[in-house]
Formats: sequence, structure tokens, C-alpha cells
Amino acid sequence: MTIQSQALKALIEVGSNPYNAELQNFIRKGGKTCGFLFQETPEEIITAAGVVPVYIRGTKSEGTEMAEAYFRQLTCNYVRNTFNEILDDKWDFLDGAVFYNLCDHARRIFDNWQTLPDNKTYHFMYIPKKRSDLSKDFYRQEIKKLIEATEKHFGVEITKEKLSEAIKLHNEMRRLQKEIYDLQKEEKVYLDGTELAMVMMAGVSMPRDKYSDLLRTLISDLKAQGPQIEPKVRLLYTGGHADNPKFFDLLEQQGAVVVADNDSFGTRACDVLVSEEGDPLEAIIEYYYQQKPAATRQFGTHEERLARLDQLIENYRIDGIISSRLFMCDIWAFEQFLMRNHLQKKNFPLLELEVDYNPEGEGQIRTRVQAFVESVCDKKNI
Ligand code: SF4
Repeated sequence: MTIQSQALKALIEVGSNPYNAELQNFIRKGGKTCGFLFQETPEEIITAAGVVPVYIRGTKSEGTEMAEAYFRQLTCNYVRNTFNEILDDKWDFLDGAVFYNLCDHARRIFDNWQTLPDNKTYHFMYIPKKRSDLSKDFYRQEIKKLIEATEKHFGVEITKEKLSEAIKLHNEMRRLQKEIYDLQKEEKVYLDGTELAMVMMAGVSMPRDKYSDLLRTLISDLKAQGPQIEPKVRLLYTGGHADNPKFFDLLEQQGAVVVADNDSFGTRACDVLVSEEGDPLEAIIEYYYQQKPAATRQFGTHEERLARLDQLIENYRIDGIISSRLFMCDIWAFEQFLMRNHLQKKNFPLLELEVDYNPEGEGQIRTRVQAFVESVCDKKNI
């Protein structure tokens, strides 16, 4: 670790392990949890039901043998590893799970889970891929259906007051995360890429109030000890489902540091807050439908996404971007194509990786990153 901090240690442990001790302690004390997919599930609605939303992932999976019977080889490995963990009863602690139409691969987790005796899913949301007045009305109906299903499943009433409290809780977490990212804008930075990714991943893997407490302590530890890392090359990471610390370790070599990201659980999760004014349900709808940085699956938002990438390059003084796509993921194939064209026009360094969900071929990734960092150093004349 770059700094001495018990809070950082605890956050890394939570971020690296979806079944972490913080979550298990909460469950032992009677707390309820609900699995969800990033990035478009409106977490505040689950929180307003008195339930902790937990991002479903297969970070700890050691294989896909059991899941192979349910999926074709063309299915991405995030889905197969995650479902393998479900079949291995690792997610039995959940009290429920909601899914949405992220992509055709991910929705099969929902379909297949429903066939199992210990199925945890209780609702599937259809989230429009386009932004228009018509699709916004449809989205509003879908949000209402999610609220009704969540109320029924957990036997609670989701009132406006509870929604307002949930917005405040999640916004507080976003403010603190943003404070950490702001520290990363300085010439010397406070966290390396692995630490940063795990701190952010912890935010979707444990009770949010406890998470904010740990973030507050971490920020005060960081400020007290000052920035410890002087990056020779400042990298930005972007990609889908990179939630394994082993992967980020591979990206930082020869003085290159991932100082920021364009991750759904990173800057995209905290850059914009939900309005705390007016009707809380409308504020949630506005945020997830319109205001939150666009997800890669949303049609017609590519210009907005690329403009945001430019802004991140400027804000964090980025020298090069590393992007990864999981084998078989078509959404990120398109995103990499768009980024490549956009960045080539600016002659901005980009390394595109195609990787397994749980990193394999480490030597090859390491060699490619090494060559990339050298080329960025040449460009900078260092
Ligand atoms: S990696 Fe791509 S294909 Fe797999 S679940 Fe994510 S978006 Fe879908």
C-alpha cells in the first residue's frame, strides 16, 4: 500500500471480495441485501426499501465448469464466471436480485437463475437504449414497476421520505468519492490504480453508510500523509467489468500509474449527483435517464461519451489511455472502435486490450503494456 491506513486496507479487502466480512457482518446482524447489475439499476430504490444493493460479480471465481452447461462459448466470461459462483451457492446470502437488459449476455444470468430452485431474482427491468420523450415515459413506468416489485418482495413501503433519505445517502458517498478523484488530479497522486479501483468497487459491495465512514477516514489519512506517488506516465483506464486487483496490477509498470478511470463504478458513478430538490422519484428518474454520464449501451450518446473522455484527459492530465474489452463483448468492441477513431485523430496514445474476465495470459498483457508505456515515454521525451 502507498500509505499507512487501516481504512484503505479495509476498503481494498471489500473491493477485492464480493463476499467480504463487512457485508457478512451486516447480514449476521439481520441486514438484508439485494444483488444488482451496474450501471443503470437505480440503487436508491433498493436502499429506500431498507436493503443494501450489492453488485453481482464473479471476481473470486476459479473456473466456469458448472456454468458451461448453461451458456454457449460465445457468452462473455463475466457472465460465465458470475453464474458459476451462483451455481456454487456463493450468492446464497442474497435476499433478492434485480436485473436489467444491460446486454443479451448479462440477461441470461437472470433467465438461468430463474430455472434454479434457489432463485433469488424477483424483477427484470427494461431500460430504454435511446433517450426520447416516448422512451422516458416507458422508463417512468419501468421504475414504478421496480418499486412495486421491491415493495412486494421485501414487504415494505417505499415512501417519498425514504427515497429522499436514500438519495442523500448515495449522494454523500458520491461526494466523498469525488473528493478522492480530485486528489488524483494533482501532479503527485495519493493512490495507485489498483487501490483506486478497489476503493471504488467497495462502494457497490457493502452497506453504504459504513462505506462513507471508511471513505471519510481514508480522505483524512491521505491528506495527513500527503501524495506519495509521482507518476512518470499518467494513465486513464476504461473498460467493462474490470474488478480484479490482479488486472490493475498488470497495468502499472515502469513508473506508469493509473491515476483515474472512466469506469461505471468509478468516475461515471460519482461525477454527477442526484438532485435533492423537489420530488425524489422524479429526481431519480432524471438522474438515471438523462443526467448520469451515458453508459456504453445507450444509442446516440457516443458524442457525449467521447466528449467526456476528452474532459477526463484534460482534468487528470492523462498521457495515455488503456482500454480493455472482455472476449465476446460486442458493446465494448464498438466502444473501442469509436475511441480508436476519435483518439487517432488527435494522435493520442491508446492501448486496446482484449482480456479474460479473470486475467489470464498475464505475460502477454504485461509485455503489451510495457511497450505502450515506452512509446508514451518516447512521445513525452522522457
Ligand atoms: S462484458 Fe460485455 S457482453 Fe459481458 S456482460 Fe458486460 S456488456 Fe455484456
